[in-house]
Amino acid sequence: MFDLIIKGGTQPDGTTSDIAIIGDRIAATGRIDGEAKEVIHATGDLVAPPFVDPHFHMDATLSYGIPRLNASGTLLEGIALWGELRELATVEDMVARALTYCDWAVSMGLLAIRTHVDTTPDHLRGVEAMLEVKKKVAPYIDLQLVAFPQDGLYRTKTGRENVIRALDLGVDVVGGIPHFERTMEEGNESVKDLARIAADRGLMLDLHCDETDDPMSRHVEALAAEVTRHGLGCRAAGSHLTSMHSMDNYYVSKLLPLMAESGMTAIPNPLINITLQGCHDIYPKRRGLTRVKEMQAHGITVGWGQDCVMDPWYSLGTADMLDVAFMGLHVAQMTHPDEMRRCFDMVTRDNAKIMGLDGYGLMKGDTASLVILDAGDPTEALRLRAERLCVISKGNVISHRARGDARLSLPGRPETVRRRRGA
Ligand SMILES: [Zn+2]
Repeated sequence: MFDLIIKGGTQPDGTTSDIAIIGDRIAATGRIDGEAKEVIHATGDLVAPPFVDPHFHMDATLSYGIPRLNASGTLLEGIALWGELRELATVEDMVARALTYCDWAVSMGLLAIRTHVDTTPDHLRGVEAMLEVKKKVAPYIDLQLVAFPQDGLYRTKTGRENVIRALDLGVDVVGGIPHFERTMEEGNESVKDLARIAADRGLMLDLHCDETDDPMSRHVEALAAEVTRHGLGCRAAGSHLTSMHSMDNYYVSKLLPLMAESGMTAIPNPLINITLQGCHDIYPKRRGLTRVKEMQAHGITVGWGQDCVMDPWYSLGTADMLDVAFMGLHVAQMTHPDEMRRCFDMVTRDNAKIMGLDGYGLMKGDTASLVILDAGDPTEALRLRAERLCVISKGNVISHRARGDARLSLPGRPETVRRRRGA
C-alpha cells in the first residue's frame, strides 16, 4: 500500500510515468497498479522536481519601502538603505517577513533556497533570525544560509570576525563580496582568505563576485584559481559575475577554460542584473548579464537565481522561479527550443546541483518532493509561467489550487480559455 500515487504526469524529459510515494521517498515509478491512500491524476500535466533558488536575501525580503524607497534605483543606494533597515529591524520582524515569503515560495513550488545573511552588524540579528526560520521551515523547505559580509570582509573593523562568528553559530556556506573591498588587492586577498576558510571547515563557498559593469573587475579569475587550489569544485559558486559582460573578449577566452577547469558553478540573477547594471551608461546601455551560454558551452554549471523580492534593491518579485528563468531566457537570448528547456533545467536540476541537494529528482529512492504544473512541457511552463496545481514536499501535499481557466461570454466561441497548446 502506497501513501500517494501521482498518475500519468509528463516529466520534463517528456516521459510519462506514475509516481508512487511511501513516507518521504519515491517508492516506485513507471506504470503502477498498486493501492494508495490518495491518488492525484496528472495526465497531460507537467510533473517536475521542485524549483530551487540558489541566490536570495531573506533577511531583507518584503521590506520594500521601509524606512523609505530606493529613489535612484541603484545598487549603491540599495546597500545604503539596507544599512539603515538592518539597524531598525528586530529578530521578530525578520522572522515574520521571512516566514511570509516562505509561504509564497511553497505556493510556487519553490522548496529549496540558498539565502545570503548579512553578517556586517555586530548584533548579528539577521543570523539569529534566519537560523530560527531555517529550523521552522525545515519540514518543508531546504534553507541554506550563507555568511555574507555585505559591507566587505576587510572594509569594516569586525567584517572577518563576524563571518567566523556566523559560521560558528551554524551558518552553512562561506560568502563574500570582493569587488566591494577597498582595493582590487584587498578584493583578491578576501577571495583567498574565504576559499581557505571554506576548505578548512569543509564548507561550500558562494561569493557575490564582480557585480559591477567595470570590465577590470576580475575577482572571478582569483576565485577559479582558489577553487582549483583547494579542490572545491562544484561546492564553490560565483554569484552575479556581471563584469564578464563587459570584459575584453580575448581575456574571457582565457578565463572560461580556467573556470571550467576549477569545476566552479555560476549564478546570474537576471531580474536584478537587468535593472541594476548599466545604470551609469547613456546609450547604448549594456545588458549587464554575465555570459551564460558561453559558460554552458564550456561545461560550466549555470543556474538562475532570484536574488530579491520587494526589498531595498528590487520592488517586484513573486517567489516564482519561472519568472526568473523567463527573464533570463530573454536577456541571454536563449530562444532555441533546446535553450528554453535548458532554462527550465537551470531553475530545477542545475540549481539543485549548485546547492548540493541530496535525493533531488523523480527517480525511485529520491525525496518525494515535486510540483504539478498546468502545462504540457517545460517550454509551455515558461511561456505561461504556469500555475502550480499541486506542491508536494517530503511526501506531503502542502499547496494546491484549481486551474485558472477564464470563462468567455462570446457567441460561437469556446466557453473557457486555458492558453495551453491545443486547449
Ligand atoms: Zn545577492
